[in-house]
Amino acid sequence: MNYQVNEKGYYGDFGGAYIPEMLYPNVEELRTTYLDIMNEPSFKKEFDQLLRDYVGRPSPLYFAKRLSEKHNTKVYLKREDLNHTGAHKVNNTIGQILVAKRLGKNRIIAETGAGQHGVATATVCALMGVKCIVYMGEIDIKRQAPNVARMKMLGAEVRPAKSGSKTLKDATNEAIRDWINNPVDTHYIIGSAIGPHPYPDMVTRFQSIISEEIKWQLKEKEGREHPDYVVACIGGGSNAAGTYYHFLEEPSVGIIAVEAAGKGIHSGESAATSQLGKEGIIHGCKTLLMQTPDGQITEPYSISAGLDYPGVGPLHSHLYKTARGEFYSVTDDDAMAAGLELSQLEGIIPAIESSHALAIFNDKKFRPEDVVVISLSGRGDKDLDTYIDYFKL
Ligand SMILES: *Cc1c(COP(=O)(O)O)cnc(C)c1O
Repeated sequence: MNYQVNEKGYYGDFGGAYIPEMLYPNVEELRTTYLDIMNEPSFKKEFDQLLRDYVGRPSPLYFAKRLSEKHNTKVYLKREDLNHTGAHKVNNTIGQILVAKRLGKNRIIAETGAGQHGVATATVCALMGVKCIVYMGEIDIKRQAPNVARMKMLGAEVRPAKSGSKTLKDATNEAIRDWINNPVDTHYIIGSAIGPHPYPDMVTRFQSIISEEIKWQLKEKEGREHPDYVVACIGGGSNAAGTYYHFLEEPSVGIIAVEAAGKGIHSGESAATSQLGKEGIIHGCKTLLMQTPDGQITEPYSISAGLDYPGVGPLHSHLYKTARGEFYSVTDDDAMAAGLELSQLEGIIPAIESSHALAIFNDKKFRPEDVVVISLSGRGDKDLDTYIDYFKL
């Protein structure tokens, strides 16, 4: 069992760095330095201190008593929703801004779809006093006005991507173009466990604080470090990668991934990548992605903006192909019901992304003695309008 990235940047058949030649120097600089930087004691010290004092870590591991009773198993929630900015994404942006500083970069670019990664990036740029440019599709700018306002308030410049479908992939193209033109002073902060090597591994390592904490927290509460299952939703796969990381080589821990089935896996409106995807190249890596027979990327759909992505990170493609992970797809309707259930059983309103992970109980029966840890990747404040419309509240 080996689920670490190899020297060439592959997890089994997936990963690598499929990039235009003009981007090679930027990615190569990062590839040859990221591990040394992350292993420096001064880096670790600064990262840990910011996670503690700025993000508010460790995030609690909460035993959900009423949810456990309802589903007749022991459910713990890893409370990433309580982090500063309301989700796990900030673990990664803090890490990357510290890498950028040590590489001498004083300008940050990022792409964003729903705006969550843009906000997490703008946040750490404000913290460090670094210039921040966020590329966002013109259509997404209209759809996600509150997050655009947040980014502006934090001092970031939001640049519209006006080509193609004017959504996430066009914003990504613009960001890549910017990076090619500004190789010396600029770092590109990618927001999930995707992109060319070393991004998937770097992002996974920053997010691995989630499973590092689960181990000692569970030891305190249950007398053992290893749960029976870890469960997480997958968009690009960063909260999942962080939740699984320290259990990947531990066969007693079951790994469960939950994707968005949208209106149904075969409805044509879905983001169930492992079920529908074929091997292909997206954002610089080889992975499973939804595509037409001639290789054009299919527009994904999910009610949750964070899961509305046509691929998964290469680690997850590997977990799927080797059957190390069990993959499930949850519809909009089942996710919304699970979000309402958590709100009313535990007094916690989850992000709709996280609600997908919570809907696992429809598909999988656990034993009463099982310890099931679910990544509660974010809080539901940002999704209130969607919940209101859906439930006619
Ligand atoms: C962005 C987001 C996700 C999906 O991203 P991953 O990289 O797959 O973790 C999940 N939950 C929340 C709350 C998010 O904001």
